[in-house]
Amino acid sequence: MRLRNKPWAKDKLLEYPQYVVHEPEQHRGRWNELFAAAQPLHIEIGTGKGRFITEMARANPNINYIGIELQESVIVSALDRLIEAGLPNCKLMNVNAAELEKYFASGDVNRVYLNFSDPWPKTRHEKRRLTYASFLSVYEQILVDQGEIHFKTDNQGLFEYSLMSFSHYGLLMKFVSLDLHNSGFEGNIMTEYEEKFSSRGNRIYRCEVQYPK
Ligand code: SAM
Repeated sequence: MRLRNKPWAKDKLLEYPQYVVHEPEQHRGRWNELFAAAQPLHIEIGTGKGRFITEMARANPNINYIGIELQESVIVSALDRLIEAGLPNCKLMNVNAAELEKYFASGDVNRVYLNFSDPWPKTRHEKRRLTYASFLSVYEQILVDQGEIHFKTDNQGLFEYSLMSFSHYGLLMKFVSLDLHNSGFEGNIMTEYEEKFSSRGNRIYRCEVQYPK
């Protein structure tokens, strides 16, 4: 994601505590208290400009959502979307996914979404990929038993790597599509990257994997 410097971003995030969680460690183990309704919690890691998380929240009012994004200059765009949508079941967090166990206790999260994660193609950067084993361990620590990761990307190399990484970690493969947009899959909500890359003719890969009992 090309980053434009937005020196005002931090202040804007602070202005909307109803949408941006500022001290997430305070909610560890009791996230339901922060939302209007106590219901399952799904998180998206690397939420970018927020189209997926806000549209998912609009379509599924019986689920709570949190979009997690490292870059404050990017997450402010997600905040703009959320302000406009005014959804009670969606929040944003400007943190690094590598530290999620500081903010979520075991079983706080019912599902993790990874959409168009940065591919980090060089082998020496493998540990930065959001499907690397250390990240799978973080997700395992915060998910419910048999929790799921839903992952999509247009990057064939990252997809193949991720299937191997999931398999080595012992995750169960529940769904795999090598061409999501021509698979008859219903209810797909496109991310900003998905729209951009599929309009260029790129194939979209998608899988759902589950932690074993
Ligand atoms: N999911 C969006 C989409 O599909 O349009 C954005 C995809 S963009 C390629 C990946 C995003 O993940 C970037 O905005 C980046 O800042 C974020 N990201 C990368 N590593 C992260 C991490 N460790 N924790 C939180 N966000 C991260």
